[in-house]
Amino acid sequence: MTAVEAYVVGREIAAADHPSKEVRAVLKRLVGDGWTLRSEAHWGTLYCPCEDHCTVIRVGGTPKNPGQEARRIQRKAKWCPLPPGDARAAPRSGVVN
Ligand SMILES: [Zn+2]
Repeated sequence: MTAVEAYVVGREIAAADHPSKEVRAVLKRLVGDGWTLRSEAHWGTLYCPCEDHCTVIRVGGTPKNPGQEARRIQRKAKWCPLPPGDARAAPRSGVVN
């Protein structure tokens, strides 16, 4: 491992890596919608497609209730106002206010 590699945290991971079928299905759908899944925290973290990542969801690797975990992720994903397939990067680089 090089010095640079040692600093790389939160590498991208695949939805298929999740042990729970229910959670996997939700993750796959979100990743298909442009969400980014990174290896962080207990298992992973989902970042919404917005440029400023308005919505960040922690994903547990071993949920006690996978169905409930899948629904929780789906519910939280709705916090991101970006409609799938729509203008990805809500440009916030300009002047706000
Ligand atoms: Zn968003």
